[in-house]
Order: sequence, then C-alpha cells, then structure tokens
Amino acid sequence: MNIKIKFPDNSVKEFPQGISPYDVAMSISPGLARNIVAARVNDKLIDLIAPINEDAAIELYKFDSEIGREVYWHSTAHLMAQAVQELFPDVKVTIGPAIESGFYYDFDKEIPFTDDDLAKIEAKMKELSRQKLEYTREEIPREQGIKKFQEMGESYKVEILNEIPEGEIISLYTQGDFTDLCRGPHLPNTGMIKAIKLLKTSGAYWRGDEKNKMLQRIYGISFPSNKELNQYLEMLEEAKKRDHRKLGKELDIYSVSDEIGAGLILWHPNGALMRSLIEDYWKKRHFEDGYSVVNTPHIGKKELWETSGHLQFYQESMYSPIVVDEQEYYLKPMNCPFHIAIYQSTKRSYRDLPIKMAEMGTVYRYEKSGALHGLMRVRGFTQDDAHIICTPDQLDDEIMNVLKLSIDILKAFGFQEMEIYLSTMPEKAVGEKADWDKAASALEKALKAEKIDYKVDAGGGAFYGPKIDIKIKDALNRSWQCSTIQFDFNLPERFNMEYIGADNKPHRPFMVHRALLGSLERFFGTLIEYHAGNFPLWLCPIQVEVLPISEHYEEYAKEVYSKLKAAGIRSEVDLQNEKIGYKIRAAEMRKIPYMFIVGAKEEESSTVSVRRHGEGDLGSRELEDIMAAIKQENDEKK
Ligand SMILES: [Zn+2]
Ligand SMILES: [Zn+2]
Repeated sequence: MNIKIKFPDNSVKEFPQGISPYDVAMSISPGLARNIVAARVNDKLIDLIAPINEDAAIELYKFDSEIGREVYWHSTAHLMAQAVQELFPDVKVTIGPAIESGFYYDFDKEIPFTDDDLAKIEAKMKELSRQKLEYTREEIPREQGIKKFQEMGESYKVEILNEIPEGEIISLYTQGDFTDLCRGPHLPNTGMIKAIKLLKTSGAYWRGDEKNKMLQRIYGISFPSNKELNQYLEMLEEAKKRDHRKLGKELDIYSVSDEIGAGLILWHPNGALMRSLIEDYWKKRHFEDGYSVVNTPHIGKKELWETSGHLQFYQESMYSPIVVDEQEYYLKPMNCPFHIAIYQSTKRSYRDLPIKMAEMGTVYRYEKSGALHGLMRVRGFTQDDAHIICTPDQLDDEIMNVLKLSIDILKAFGFQEMEIYLSTMPEKAVGEKADWDKAASALEKALKAEKIDYKVDAGGGAFYGPKIDIKIKDALNRSWQCSTIQFDFNLPERFNMEYIGADNKPHRPFMVHRALLGSLERFFGTLIEYHAGNFPLWLCPIQVEVLPISEHYEEYAKEVYSKLKAAGIRSEVDLQNEKIGYKIRAAEMRKIPYMFIVGAKEEESSTVSVRRHGEGDLGSRELEDIMAAIKQENDEKK
C-alpha cells in the first residue's frame, strides 16, 4: 500500500507505507539523506528511522536549523551519559537537554569531574561514535519502566516516572549498552556525531532547587565536522577576550563589592564619565524630540503597587517593604506609576497631548543570586525609561518618531546590524481588540515606512499590549536586547487615566512604555562586548595620550596637552620615567584611541607623531590639523 507525503513546497509524492523520513530523503538525493538530522511528520518530531504509516506532511531538518541542532546536541548528551557510565559505573544519570549552544547532562557523583575526567569522557565518546551505535526506541508501560530503572539503580529516572500518570506508555532509547528514559527523537546512530568538545563542568542542584542534592553538570558541544567545531571554539576564545567582566575590570569601568551586595554596580570614574556622556547625549536628543525629563523617588507606598498590580503579579521580583510611620513602602521595580502620577497631577485635555516623559530611572528587582551576571543581570539598574501618552490620532506619528529615535541613538554607539521583532496579541490579553489592532498597525506602519526588515512573533506580545523589540548583532553573531517600544492597555485602566477630548468628554489615552538603551548597566555590558572595549571616540574616557620620548621633551608634551585640553579633547600626558615602547604598550592596553608621540623633531616643527589604537603609526601631523580631525570625529559620533 502507498501513502502520500506532502513536502514543504506543497508537492506530493507517493511512497510505500512504513517508509522512514531517512528513506524519503534518500529518494530525493543521497546528499540530502547524509545531511538531515531531524524530521517533523504531521507536526510531530520523530526519529529519522521511524516508519511513516499514513498520509503525512513532512519537513526535513539539517544541522543548520534550530530543530536540527537541538536533536543533534540532545543525542550527543545521550552519548556523553553512555561514556560517563562506562568510565564511572557508579554514577547515576538524571537529565541531559540541548541548550542554546550545545548540551549538558547532570550526573549524581560525589566528587566533581576533573579536567582529566573530561578528556577521558571525550575520548570515550569519540570511540563510541566510531562504533556507529544505533539509537533504538522501545515503548513500554510506565510501571514496567519503573521496574526496569529500579533494577538499574537509576533512582532519578524512577522519580521522574513516578510523576507520569499511571498506565501511560513511555519510551526508552538504547544505544549499545546504555538505556535512557526519553521522549526523543534522536539521530539514527552515534556515528553522525563527528566533532565533540566537552567545555566545562559545574555543580547544579537536582531540578534547580537548592534544597535538593548537588549534581555534577558537564557542558559540551558537537558538530558534524571538525571545521565547524574549530570555528566555534575560536568564537568562544574571542568572546572570552570581549567578556565585559574582564574588560570592565581592565579598563577600570565598574566593580561589584561583596560588602555592598551582589548585583549592585559601583561605577568607577571611567564608567561614570562615559555614563554622563551618554546621559548628556540622551537628554539632548530627547529634548529635541519633544520629551520632558522628569525625576521620581526610589520608593512608593504599598497602595500604589496594589493599584498598579505589581504586588499581585510581580511581588517575587520586588524587595521586601520598608516600614515608616506604620506605612509600608516598596523600592520601585518600574517607573511607570510615578510618571502616571505626574500625568494625573492636573486635568489633561486633548490639547496637552502627546505628553512624553523621560527619566533615567533607577529601579530595583530581585534576581536569584545564581542568575546574576556582571552588568547583564543585576539587582539595581537605571532604565532610560519614557512614557508616551497620546490620543488615538497621534499614535502613528508618535510610534514613527520613537522608532526613528531608537535606531538613530543606537547608531551613535556604533551598532550596525539590528534584528527587529514585532510581537502581537497573545491569547490571554487585556484591552479592546480594536485598540490592539490600532496599536499593532501603528507599529507595523512605522517599520514599513522606515523600510526595516522585521520578524513577527505572532501571539508573543505581553498580556497588556503589542511591542517592538530591537536587538543588536555583534561581530560574533550574538544578539543583544536593547530597545523596547511597548503598548500598555492595562495601567491606563488600572489608574483610570483620562483626558478631556474635543467633545468635552473624558477619554482613555494610549500609553507606550519605551526604553531605548534598555538598562544602562546591560547597555554598558553590550557596549563593551560589542566593541571589545574599543569604544567610539566620543565615549572614550581618555581620547589622546601624549607620550614624550624622554624627559627632555616633557615641556613640549605638556604644551601639547594644554592645547588638547583647551580644545575640549580628553587627554593625559604620560610622564613616567619609562622607555617609549613601554609607554606605548601601556596606552594600547588601556585602548586609548590616539597616542601623540613627541621628541626633538616634533618639538622643532610643532607637530606630533600619531598612533591610532588598532591601526598603528599614522605618521607626523601638524598639531592643529590632527586636533581638528579628532574634534570632528568626536562631534560626528563616528
Ligand atoms: Zn533523549
Ligand atoms: Zn513603563
């Protein structure tokens, strides 16, 4: 008997019943069959060697797809568990999922794995891969599974099975002598896993709960070829060099102190100087765009957070209350209610709108200590927050303006490539459908008018409104979340926000939250990693370092320095009693963009010998000329 298989291009072909996705691929070309790693049949992921018994729609995935990588990496996790149990028979297995890059598996083992162990496990995995062991699937009733894993002494698997409803059919996968409880699917055999690297090991609590036992987690990654693995490892090396925690320290930008508290950032003079440059620029652009800048307190009464809904829905991210005069106050996790209070401080008419309030507002949110990460995940941070409150007629223009402003500001920081997402109405949502449609259409119109490529995340909006997210992409192809333009149909309702329309009746305004940089802390982390610490000139704490070749030229060096200072160029003169080579290296380490080297020749001709960080020697230049060029580079924010 034949069945009909439909392909993504809607073409249909007939095959004998029971054909596998692998053989379907084979019928197209052996090259395709060699490269596919996963298949979706009638919207269900199945093994490549599983039979297809009915008419079906099929999608085949290679390693270059997200689904393909997930199946590939997860299959490698099984391979790793097999290798670990062959080398350490007493170790119990738990779970081993694929993650964004690679996979991990958690093992119950008393003594942590050493680097030496990792090397042995990796070698064992390669050996098992060469044996091309098939991943075979078996389906049995849950009770039989419990018995089987009890006999194997795999208590974690028994625990997982005990949570599955009685009588349910479960699936086991076996390759060689190793059997694991798993839904699948997996690769056809271990031989498809060509290049493997185990990356690191760490402790991890069973089910992420610190009341449970500490397990030993091994992270790894695998690829279909050594070339791809090597490229990935090079990328990791480069990412390590760019790590903002490392560069943040080397460039003396920030620190975190145990005595003050985890996730609370101390901005050192270099970081604070850059931050004030950013804030000045940010304010200037906002004033030009018709925003007002406001300032609001760090704490607010309990009742405020009840009205806003934060205490009902967000409390686990808020700090415990502070009690003053028997009144409870909470540290603010968001600035919105304060801006709404300013809006409501007087009666508003349609003639007052739009009202656009911006604030560098510092907020506090609880993050688990394990989730804290440098500047990226912190407990106190400053949002470049703003709220746009407007009438329905003003919506399209206002969204267009804010989108342009976002992209313009991001470009000033040297960010080139951006990824833009539009998230629309989820199933559970507050507000009128007509308002959602109007809002989503304003977002879409703005994107189209600006000829911006974007992806739609259908149903991915928050329950209170649709939004646009802007992520920037760096040289390592990583994306970093920056701007969000987010509608809100919830807070205007909760706070009963109104304006008096031309008809003399009260109306509910539209409200948009937006942060362009996001949080200054995370933005700085992104800025450091994106530029690998080589910031655009306008942000560099020191733009020019003046380096006399020897003490004889100190006077001339000081004279150059005074001129730079008078021209508003941030500079320093290095008067250390060191060789010029040493001084140049020191300035290079600090990633100072320009070095002016001065000696006899320069003094006589009123010139400087210029070095540009990352480029090297630019030769001798008239002081006035190079200063003008630097001024221009600074002002144009290039
Ligand atoms: Zn599995
Ligand atoms: Zn807000």
